[in-house]
Amino acid sequence: MPREELRLDKHSAYFNLVESFSSGCCPICILKKNWSDKFIQTMLYESVNDKFFRSRLAKTAGFCNIHSWRIASFNNAMSTAILFKDRLDKIIVSLSDTKITIQKNLKPCLLCDNEETAESHYINVMASSISEESFWEKFEQSAGLCYNHLVFLLKIVAKSQKKRIIDFQKKRFSELSENLSLFIDKFDYRNRNAVITEDEKKLWKDAISVISKINGVV
Ligand SMILES: [Zn+2]
Ligand SMILES: [Zn+2]
Repeated sequence: MPREELRLDKHSAYFNLVESFSSGCCPICILKKNWSDKFIQTMLYESVNDKFFRSRLAKTAGFCNIHSWRIASFNNAMSTAILFKDRLDKIIVSLSDTKITIQKNLKPCLLCDNEETAESHYINVMASSISEESFWEKFEQSAGLCYNHLVFLLKIVAKSQKKRIIDFQKKRFSELSENLSLFIDKFDYRNRNAVITEDEKKLWKDAISVISKINGVV
C-alpha cells in the first residue's frame, strides 16, 4: 500500500477535524483510529497480494500487539493468515540449531508509523486553524482533547492561542473530575439508594480515555 494513498490534504483534514468534534471524545484520538482502520481495510482487502507492500512489510518487525489484534478484529481470516505467515516464515529462518538470529535495523510496526503520521498531520492542521473564530467555536462545543494530545498541541500552537486552549481544557478536565467525584460518592454505603445514570456508568472509561487516549490508540 503506497503511503500516498493515505495522504490527506489540509482541506479534508480540516473538515474531518470539525466533524470529529461531535464524537464525544478526543478528536485527534478518533481520527487517528479511523486512519488506521482505513489502512487495515485497504491492506486486508487490496494490498495483501501487492508485492511492493509485502516487501515493505518484510522490512518491519511485524505489527505491535495492539495493531495485531486490531487487524484480527476485522475477521479477514485469509488475508490475516497470509500476512502473519510471512512473519512466521521469517522467524523460522532465523532459528538455527542453538540460537536465534535477531534481524537488525527492522522498521517499527507499519500501523504505529502511519498513526503517527496521521496524528502529527491532524495536530498541525488543528494548530494552524485554531485561531479562526469559526473553527474555535466548533472546537469549544467538543469534549476537548485528551491529555496526550493537549500536550502535543501546546508544543506547536502559536503562543497567542495557548491561554484559551488551556482555559477550555481545564474546564473540560474539571467537569470530568467533578462528575467522577459524584460517581464515586454513589458507592458510599450512605448513598446506597442513589441511582447511577447511563452517562455515569461510562465515566471511569472516559477518565481512562482522557488520561491514556481512547481504547486501541497507541
Ligand atoms: Zn487524544
Ligand atoms: Zn502498532
